[in-house]
Amino acid sequence: RMIWVRCHGPNYEQIAITVGRQIRNIGIMAHIDAGKTTTTERMLYYSGYIRALGDVDDGDTVTDFMAQERERGITIQSAAVTFDWKSHRINLIDTPGHVDFTLEVERALRVLDGAVAVFDASAGVEAQTLTVWRQAEKHHVPCICFLNKMDNLGFSIQSIRDKLKANPVLLQTPIGSGKNFTGVVDLITNQKLIWKQKSVGDDGRAYEVKPLNELDDAAVLQEAKGARSALIEQVADLDDEFAELLLNDFIENLDAVPSIKLQAAVRRVTLARKGVPVLLGSSLKNKGVQPLLDAITAYLPAPNERHHDLVQWYKDDLCALAFKVLHDKQRGPLVFLRIYSGTLKAQTAVHNINRNSIERMSRLLVPFADQHVEIPSMPAGNIALTVGLKQTVTGDTIVLSKASAAAAARRAQNKADTGKKRGEHASVILSGVEVPDPVFFCTIEPPTMAKQADLENALNCLQREDPSLKVRVDPDSGQTVLCGMGELHIEIIHDRIRREYGIETHLGPLQVAYRETIVQHVSTTDTLDRTIGEKRHVVTVELSVRPAADAGGSCQVEFEEQTVELSPEMKEAVENGVHSSYLQGPLLGYPLQDVSTLIQSVHVESGTSLAMVSACVSRCMLKALKLAGGQVLEPVMSLEVTVGEDYLGSVLGDLAQRRGTVRDIQSRHDNKVLLATVPLAEMMGYSTILRTLTSGNATFSLELDSYEAMNLQDQNTLLKRMSGLL
Ligand code: GDP
Repeated sequence: RMIWVRCHGPNYEQIAITVGRQIRNIGIMAHIDAGKTTTTERMLYYSGYIRALGDVDDGDTVTDFMAQERERGITIQSAAVTFDWKSHRINLIDTPGHVDFTLEVERALRVLDGAVAVFDASAGVEAQTLTVWRQAEKHHVPCICFLNKMDNLGFSIQSIRDKLKANPVLLQTPIGSGKNFTGVVDLITNQKLIWKQKSVGDDGRAYEVKPLNELDDAAVLQEAKGARSALIEQVADLDDEFAELLLNDFIENLDAVPSIKLQAAVRRVTLARKGVPVLLGSSLKNKGVQPLLDAITAYLPAPNERHHDLVQWYKDDLCALAFKVLHDKQRGPLVFLRIYSGTLKAQTAVHNINRNSIERMSRLLVPFADQHVEIPSMPAGNIALTVGLKQTVTGDTIVLSKASAAAAARRAQNKADTGKKRGEHASVILSGVEVPDPVFFCTIEPPTMAKQADLENALNCLQREDPSLKVRVDPDSGQTVLCGMGELHIEIIHDRIRREYGIETHLGPLQVAYRETIVQHVSTTDTLDRTIGEKRHVVTVELSVRPAADAGGSCQVEFEEQTVELSPEMKEAVENGVHSSYLQGPLLGYPLQDVSTLIQSVHVESGTSLAMVSACVSRCMLKALKLAGGQVLEPVMSLEVTVGEDYLGSVLGDLAQRRGTVRDIQSRHDNKVLLATVPLAEMMGYSTILRTLTSGNATFSLELDSYEAMNLQDQNTLLKRMSGLL
């Protein structure tokens, strides 16, 4: 079903608003430099949405639309781009490739229905792709793989099998290799697809499709024949329906299996996540991208083939997730919405469940590659860009009205009451993204006090776009503190404040967000006796704290049995007192982890306020934590460095000085891949150092591994340095 809408744009006389089965909401995931940007751009070009091929290396592509991205050549913002391909509407959610932004990847993943993993064919699976892949698994997103850069030598399907623990289903074999890579054999249809580069500037739009025949190169024929039989057997192993078809009708002649049956089976295998179709190509050399687009429409799911948990409660009412907020100078905040049910209409009021507020939407836009096209309404399954939502933050759930949210909650509750999960409270909010704690922080100052308000406004806007950015005010110094996920993250925020808000700010030195824990089990007691005005407040608390390495990084409060008579309000006051002291450890004031507190007794004289109870508990906690002895925990990262063999020695030597522990060294073609763990504190400015050490012959990725206890000597050095700073 298509709805046609008239609108006025140079290229868009008629815009098809596609409904249901024809939609594909797709993300592209890749390690930096695998060719994600180039591939995306080629897709937009072949589908007719951009007129000329830009060059990534000149920083000129559509999805990397922010200025710094151009300069850095990386994709930070998960912007969505819409285009049509052979009567399908493809919404491409751009996922960032840099490890500092895995949170954005995660957020993008829950909005999409399928993903394309782009690999550098010669490099295989690299650390960052592995991280994203695990996230895709967590969200059960069906995937296909594109092995790019087939014009370089070699390709490694084994690495997909080994590292991703996935079952690659090879749908193509290459024709020619390296510089002579000219196309592929499509094993489903037994056709060869050849890109004959007629001139240097050939854009690859036209390519030849011919059935394989006996006159073909014997080697190509032989390889394709073997690969097709292997494909058929593999798919039969993964799909019962196909296996049955083979047994009944084609047992004597596997070659005669109709391609349409094989394709349908590969689709079922992909959707069930039992296998991952693999396609080959070279985006830069304009080869293999059109079959990739065909594969997206053929194998990845339509929105209605994906199960989104709580959407059922809304029936046909609007339910949408705000997955991206951008600030536009002229139009104000632009909010990208994924619509799960119902229809979004321009010029209407909607209800934001998370903010519990009614907001008015003015315009509704489709984010086509080179321009935004205005439309009156947008049905479920689509991505839309809205203008006018002023309070909405990335991750919020948007519904028709407060009444429809209440109706959904009732339906969910009824279901929970009748179903087995009695008593479980069903949520009607689309689950947000868990934001991990930031690992770095630094102070930020405006050039003059007069600019403080502007800076606060800029930081508010940026936080709405990016919930992984945390901003707090240091209670002692009154300074504003930025907390982020990595060096690059903070640097980019700094940059954006300058470019987009015109404020030159000064950043203090970048500091590592340490944590603290305790080393001993101690019990202690404290009494608070204070008269304020006429009133006397008396509380006595007895509690114990102990290290709890099994707490998985959190802190707990438990109550001894004799405290059962405490009222719920009193318990809450006690808990508040404990939790407030977890925020600042006894050594350096970093947050605590792995501590368990047991409340042994609480005696409160009548007339004592709850605030006094909390205060007494906090004071007693402080005493206990000091007695229990502090231990600093530092973030330790897992590091992967890919380096030319000649430079391995210098990288290793340097790592030894950074308290690094080498886990493994692997070979990949002429390169070595070094896997190590190293404290974050030792990794400041590592990208510059690595470039210098290896004359640019290395790349690396960094990811939080765990928080580890510092040894006594390092801890003492840190304590001295910190007190020197004060
Ligand atoms: P991204 O970081 O994943 O977005 O990767 P880019 O698209 O920016 O590409 C990284 C580098 O690889 C650029 O220098 C591209 O020109 C180059 N590149 C992209 N695709 C290919 C390809 O198919 N073959 C070769 N040889 N290089 C490619």
